Amino acid sequence: AADPSGKITLTRYDASKDDRAVIIEALKRPSQRSTEKIMGIVNPIIKDVQERGDKALLEYTHKFEKATSLTSPVLKAPFPESLMQLPPETIEAIDISFENIRKFHAAQKEERPLVVETMPGVVCTRFSRPIERVGCYVPGGTAVLPSTAMMLGVPAMVAGCEKIVLASPPRADGSVTPEIVYVAHKVGAESIVLAGGAQAIAAMAYGTESVSKVDKILGPGNQFVTAAKMVVSNDTSAAVGIDMPAGPSEVLVIADETAEPAFVAADLLSQAEHGVDSQVVLIAIDLTTEQLEAIETEVDKQANALPRVDIVRGAIDHSVTLIVKSLQEAMELSNVYAPEHLILQIKDAEKAVGLVKNAGSVFIGKWTPESVGDYSAGVNHSLPTYGYARQYSGVNLGSYIKHITASNLTEQGLKEVGPAVMQLAKVEELEAHRRAVSIRLAMMSSK
Ligand code: NAD
Repeated sequence: AADPSGKITLTRYDASKDDRAVIIEALKRPSQRSTEKIMGIVNPIIKDVQERGDKALLEYTHKFEKATSLTSPVLKAPFPESLMQLPPETIEAIDISFENIRKFHAAQKEERPLVVETMPGVVCTRFSRPIERVGCYVPGGTAVLPSTAMMLGVPAMVAGCEKIVLASPPRADGSVTPEIVYVAHKVGAESIVLAGGAQAIAAMAYGTESVSKVDKILGPGNQFVTAAKMVVSNDTSAAVGIDMPAGPSEVLVIADETAEPAFVAADLLSQAEHGVDSQVVLIAIDLTTEQLEAIETEVDKQANALPRVDIVRGAIDHSVTLIVKSLQEAMELSNVYAPEHLILQIKDAEKAVGLVKNAGSVFIGKWTPESVGDYSAGVNHSLPTYGYARQYSGVNLGSYIKHITASNLTEQGLKEVGPAVMQLAKVEELEAHRRAVSIRLAMMSSK
């Protein structure tokens, strides 16, 4: 709850005094708008785009983005130079980040197929192939998000996807931000869909007269985008995959007495400014009251100096500080929370990584602010939120690849494994399965 004094501060809980149930309740993410309500908005939009294609897509863009002058929903490559005019310092920043992201994702490539001979003459292999057509959703009509375009587009390029489609809501004048056009150009995108929300997702899932249908849609977005991704991925007629469910951004910072209060505060606020739905958590290990107050003073001071202070205030309202006694206790609670971003501002931070069970991405030590991961270090920033770090990885090279397995048997191999196959086929009463083996074994023995 908001601090009565008006101070921007996280609500304190003490793990050694407060009930475990109270702590777990305090760690609950702020509730989302009801799925039913969102689905009620999103379903008709998807159906409309599926039925009326470009015409519907344009109408929604005119309505939601106010881009009434837009006459075509797609910008096809090659993109004209005039649409990617940028100051040299922005080009340099994009180029540096792009290269780091490329390097880190290229290193995730599997060198060679996996080959295992399970029995003499029975060879199983597994090899990877890129998903042929991918759709990358870059959120925000007003916000400029070249970083998200890179985080989604660069691994697609590295994976070797044949067709990369970017989608992003255009600005009110109908244009796309030049940063996104520049990134689209660099990753070799086929096109940019000038649309946002459920309509953009539907267009990529089903294809329209001018939007290419894709096999998988990736990228963050608001609740309309997330709901639409879930709808299309459940529709067998769309035959489209998605990366993961997404929710508002979050961070969990673990700090001990070696942490710099100003750094802890800055890191907490860097996520709190994302949106009022965001949540930030501080786990303080055995801090003195003065140390804790030093962090709280910094949070209030730095928050009040931010242009987005009102958003921060909203996020901090449902954010918490948990006071614990030991690193083990801190890591245990962090693993329960499964944060999208985990920051370790503690001594021997590198060692503590061994205790991480659930997290999207970890930032180790006082010189590693989370923002480096958002933009330029090379790691991906499209990460599981809302506790999904328990079972999902963030976007990575594997998100753009599928694995294919193959078996290759010699005559000897079939002799070895055939009897087991025939017996199991018999148990399952699948006679044609059994016969596919027996017919071959019979031919071998008649030779
Ligand atoms: P967005 O692109 O996700 O959504 C804009 C679209 O929402 C519009 O085009 C419109 O179609 C749709 N929409 C808005 N109001 C609607 C309504 N009433 N009915 C139907 N559709 C409606 O952009 P956003 O809204 O700015 O949200 C961006 C989200 O992405 C935020 O939640 C942000 O935290 C998140 N984000 C996450 C990351 C990440 O990597 N985790 C990065 C950037 C942004």
